[in-house]
Amino acid sequence: MSESQPVRGEFELIERYFTRPVPAGSTHVRLGVGDDCALLAGVPGEEWAVSTDMLVEGVHFLSDVDPESLGHKSLAVNLSDLAACGATPRCYFLAIALPRIDEAWLAAFVSGQSLLADSHHCLLAGGDTTRSASGVTITVTVMGTVPQGQALLRSGARPGDEVWVSGTLGAAALGLAFRRGDVRLSGPDADRMIARLERPLPRVALGERLRGIATSAIDVSDGLVGDLGHILVRSGVGAVIEWPKVPIDDALRSQQEPVQRRLALTGGDDYELLFTAPPERRQDVLAAGAATDLTCIGTVLPTGGLVVVDGQGRRVDTGAAFDHFRR
Ligand code: ADP
Ligand code: MG
Repeated sequence: MSESQPVRGEFELIERYFTRPVPAGSTHVRLGVGDDCALLAGVPGEEWAVSTDMLVEGVHFLSDVDPESLGHKSLAVNLSDLAACGATPRCYFLAIALPRIDEAWLAAFVSGQSLLADSHHCLLAGGDTTRSASGVTITVTVMGTVPQGQALLRSGARPGDEVWVSGTLGAAALGLAFRRGDVRLSGPDADRMIARLERPLPRVALGERLRGIATSAIDVSDGLVGDLGHILVRSGVGAVIEWPKVPIDDALRSQQEPVQRRLALTGGDDYELLFTAPPERRQDVLAAGAATDLTCIGTVLPTGGLVVVDGQGRRVDTGAAFDHFRR
């Protein structure tokens, strides 16, 4: 089949855009795209960590989204779930519904996705391709491995643990606010915030290094307040967060204080890691961070839900976390 000829149907499309050779020496994927099933090897002493995320046109992205960014982000959000479990990515599956075949769009989508996949040695091992009656829907299922019993869970936070976060918070939400014309940013700040929104970099290496150190972890997809709330509920504890310690980008620092707070505390899509660790493991946490900026922002308490305080210890209003079905 010549690359210049348009694809004539589903099977040519799969052949041209989604078929990847399994690399020689692949330890976990025995058979990838092309048969009825992929075949994955069970490796003794390891557990599979599996996560699925769906992106729906009109809900998670707009129809004029840059397809390369969409390809990147559709995998990045899933790799971020593996990072939050401390898992090493191994392979992924792509189910995609398309209203029509637009090869330029598909080529850009695949390029954005496979660049990120290759950088994590995460092989596209299968999927499904179908026509959609409305917009594009993308479902990615990612599979990784962790040494048995070492996955980072939401349920392990203990009173006295410190609460840590990687990178900065509120940047993706600021990028989105800029896109919508709600805030003004300088050219370089705008570019940096939009990159944070469209090309999040999942904290995979950090998650792997936090195994055996963090007592609980989650990735910040729906905002600090909501996602830390999940850890607290699962762990049966409370926490106090010191707002002045919450790391934010200078572009957000230049906004008014209420905007800073709303975006950093409840803005979604940052895909940073939020985790807890005992204070005596502080040096190990910082060593695990290596090249990543890590900030201690608070402490786990025995009870009392989540409280955010300002520099004087007064309660700060946090607003509500994002929820698709909130009434
Ligand atoms: P089936 O009819 O058994 O579901 P398909 O014709 O849908 O098989 O798929 C053929 C092969 O192509 C399978 O190995 C499947 O995993 C793979 N495949 C289909 N769509 C995709 C996709 N979007 N990405 C990756 N692999 C895909
Ligand atoms: Mg199929």
